[in-house]
Amino acid sequence: MQRLVIFFALLWVCESVKFGQLCSGNPNNSQRTRDRHGAGNYGASRVPHGTHQGLDIRCSDGAEVLAPFDVTLHGKLIVYNNPDKAAIDEGINLRGGGLCFKLFYVRADKSTGSVRKGERIGTMLPMQSVYPGITSHVHVQMCDRSDPTPYF
Ligand SMILES: [Zn+2]
Repeated sequence: MQRLVIFFALLWVCESVKFGQLCSGNPNNSQRTRDRHGAGNYGASRVPHGTHQGLDIRCSDGAEVLAPFDVTLHGKLIVYNNPDKAAIDEGINLRGGGLCFKLFYVRADKSTGSVRKGERIGTMLPMQSVYPGITSHVHVQMCDRSDPTPYF
């Protein structure tokens, strides 16, 4: 019985926590579907690199990236550590909404402190310069690599 209560409590949390707007110009957090470079859903194939460990939210190059919750910032990250992809090789570690997650392809204005929901975190990097024809996007990845889709 106790386990059942905990299960439904967790289910309720998962159902209720939703990301606010992540990118200026995309108020509904619309997702990358399929383009010539692949698909944006969690678990999509990434031959020869296994599967896609996050969810891609559409965001135009140079757009403002916004805090989807009241968040705290926990340092910048390096996405690929590949000089060929240096133009987009940045991201940021975040906590907010009870979640620990990462955003890739974002140049954060600062790497520590807090940002209120809806306020600016930084700028979408120039993804078209590295992946011409892709649906430019912010990649959302949970710290435990679980599926972020239920939070959208
Ligand atoms: Zn992605």
